[in-house]
Amino acid sequence: MSNLFHSVRGTSDFYPPQSILFENITKKAKRIFSIFGYEQLILPHLEEDGLFKKGIGEVTDITQRQMFKVAGKDIVLRPEGTAQIARSYIENSIYKHRDFCKFYYTGSMFRGERPQKGRLREFHHIGAEAIGSNSFYLDAEVIEVAMRIIESAGIEGAVLKINSLGCVKDKDKLSSLIKEQLSLKSGQLCDDCRRRIVTNPLRVLDCKKERCRDAVSSIKIDNYLCDSCYEHFHSLLKLLSEMGISYVYEPLLVRGLDYYTNTVFEITSKRLGSQDAIGAGGRYNNLIKSLGGPDIGAVGFALGVERMLLLLPKPEEKPSADVLVAYTSDYVYKDAYDILRKLRNYGVSSVIDYKNKSLKAQLKWAQKAGIPYVVIIGDEELKKSCVIIRNMRESIQQEAAIGDFPEIIKNLTQGSKE
Ligand SMILES: [Zn+2]
Ligand SMILES: [Zn+2]
Repeated sequence: MSNLFHSVRGTSDFYPPQSILFENITKKAKRIFSIFGYEQLILPHLEEDGLFKKGIGEVTDITQRQMFKVAGKDIVLRPEGTAQIARSYIENSIYKHRDFCKFYYTGSMFRGERPQKGRLREFHHIGAEAIGSNSFYLDAEVIEVAMRIIESAGIEGAVLKINSLGCVKDKDKLSSLIKEQLSLKSGQLCDDCRRRIVTNPLRVLDCKKERCRDAVSSIKIDNYLCDSCYEHFHSLLKLLSEMGISYVYEPLLVRGLDYYTNTVFEITSKRLGSQDAIGAGGRYNNLIKSLGGPDIGAVGFALGVERMLLLLPKPEEKPSADVLVAYTSDYVYKDAYDILRKLRNYGVSSVIDYKNKSLKAQLKWAQKAGIPYVVIIGDEELKKSCVIIRNMRESIQQEAAIGDFPEIIKNLTQGSKE
């Protein structure tokens, strides 16, 4: 069987019913985005390498090891959406006509490193970015949107973990506090983290290796937030409580990307195991400016669709259509085909057999596929300008005039949906 082709390692095929579940998550998310006034951005999969080095940071796992390079050029398959949206926002001068915007996006993201458990080469994000305000109310809104999407997907028990890194000054202070405390334990850290203490101490807090987590768990960080960042963070926490959004304050929560300032959050589920994040986000008040745009605050999040799918039960198979147009013999196939088209023009989801099945076999097919109605086209009925409508669930049938039946079917099938 060596001539069989396989999907590339670290990529996934979604086929029914999983693809239907995927689509439902996306549809519901879009509905929520629209309720909250977010507009869609559709951006390319390809970006310049430099955008992420500048945006995410030179010494992050993504830019150092995980970029999916496209051969021969400084072009990569996008690893995440935020830097890209910032690029688009600046390049297209969107800020010149609108000083405040809220965007969402859905689509594939890529990592170039060897795939491992819980880490895919191509994965899917649903994300949002709200650009142009420092208000903590906006942080709360963004968090609410993320939580609502998770909830609407049917995922229960997701936990919001939250922290504040503060402004650049506070982050520097936090970095040196971590550096100070972890230098004493450097023997305990992995090779990467020993390097990170020097290059990017905050990243040590993100290391998944047990020995590093142990070292980190014993460190104590005093308040490093300046008055205004403290105020921002605690106002947000208070507001979240008032909104009924429960959270866990995690003083050592950082995110692996350099652009974050102030609020950072992660939404996790215990059921995912060690890679427990469903999604994450936070504020990035300096990113837009650092990429050459105006000096404005922004906040966003991204949720992993594959992670959400892992948390949902296998969906039931759903019928692919509401109506099967069945024929009693070859002689009436063309009539049946015309009726099929008529139904579709009425907006009724309908299918027909293309395999010359007997009527009995067609009905069996409808039964097996869970198609609720069958319209039977027969010689005798056609002579009377009639068809038979069969309700498969109740095993009852009625005759209907050809002129009336599309309307009848439309009412029937709409009635059977929520
Ligand atoms: Zn500050
Ligand atoms: Zn480590």
